[in-house]
Amino acid sequence: MKILVLNAGSSSIKYQLYDMASVCVLANGIVEQIGETDSQAKIKIPQKDGAYFTKERREPIACHADGLAIISELLKESGVIKDLNELDGIGHRVVQGGSNFKESALVDEYVQNEIERLISLAPLHNPAHLEGIKVSIKQSPNVPQVVVFDTSFHSTIPQYAHMYAIPYKFYSELKIKKYGFHGTSHYFVAKEGAKFLGCEIDSFNAITLHLGNGASATAIKNGKSVDTSMGLTPLEGLIMGTRCGDIDPAVLFYIARKLGYDVARLDTLANKESGLKGICGNNDMREINKMVESGDERAKLALDMFNYRLKKYIGSYSAVLGRVDCVIFTGGIGENDANVRANSCKDLENLGIEIDLDKNSQRYSTPFCISTENSKVKVLVVPTNEELEIAIQTQRLIEKLKK
Ligand code: ADP
Repeated sequence: MKILVLNAGSSSIKYQLYDMASVCVLANGIVEQIGETDSQAKIKIPQKDGAYFTKERREPIACHADGLAIISELLKESGVIKDLNELDGIGHRVVQGGSNFKESALVDEYVQNEIERLISLAPLHNPAHLEGIKVSIKQSPNVPQVVVFDTSFHSTIPQYAHMYAIPYKFYSELKIKKYGFHGTSHYFVAKEGAKFLGCEIDSFNAITLHLGNGASATAIKNGKSVDTSMGLTPLEGLIMGTRCGDIDPAVLFYIARKLGYDVARLDTLANKESGLKGICGNNDMREINKMVESGDERAKLALDMFNYRLKKYIGSYSAVLGRVDCVIFTGGIGENDANVRANSCKDLENLGIEIDLDKNSQRYSTPFCISTENSKVKVLVVPTNEELEIAIQTQRLIEKLKK
């Protein structure tokens, strides 16, 4: 079964083509700067000897339809497929699925209307996703299309945990609640972690920490999300590259009154100018590590703040779960930064969490354990693969359809 995974952004489309029989990537790539003059399209195809065949095209790509047409041409030219219509399915990443989508869904008119209706909750993402879905249906009308939502995995969070303590009508009328994001990643690494430890996912309790440019923590009980750090939007929770995470909302009121910032300016401040970047001027953890090494005090402060917030979430989710089988680190920082892992888990022996510094300093591309033999809670590093999870869920729905 061949499944194409598409992640359409406002000016880009990322894609991966999977062969699900061997669970391997046949090709992947990106179309970037759609709508601009310096647009480009790339394809990367793994070869038998472990190397990659790559090809790049630079030409104006006016819209998503043109972008998808180029992806189709690149796939055909490279001999991976003859036609997009020969695909068994296309899986689309959609950030916001609201309260109605508790699982992935086959695309029909209702699904498209719902994604459109949810635009007000995800104004930067859902319009581009919808555009991607529409052009994909036009170009491959005979291929089943599936949407996989970042929010679905968190639909099991109980009401007392997903509510904000503001007047109830804002929940009932405006649907303001914690939706959570990164769900595909949290679910994927939890499944992988359970498999690695020989546990059944249905009875597996874990705290998953997805630490990339965006970062979120999730409390997983019996394989289901019971709380997560991101909220109505991805702004809440952990300190991120450019987002402040948890903050007293009155800080923003105060800045508005003092400096005359309007809502749009505050939005930019909290989402794009804060977090690690706001404290030390850089949002790339590799650079921050170098700055710390060269004695930069602000970089050290930013890192301490990042780790401290992370530790608070590990502690609070330990309380939420009661029994924790496992803490899982993933994402660019979680998978690669041994110092973040060691410092955020430091002095947590009372919670049964004990890192083996030697194991923690190793690097693997598959799941590995970094806790000591005595650690009651296993601590794992699990590489995430959201695209593969989208492909798996797409395959599952298509197989159901065939029955
Ligand atoms: P995104 O959220 O955009 O998918 P990633 O999951 O790729 O992002 O994570 C990006 C972050 O991971 C950046 O802060 C980057 O510096 C960090 N990162 C990547 N590799 C390393 C590394 N070897 N050591 C420390 N941080 C790393």
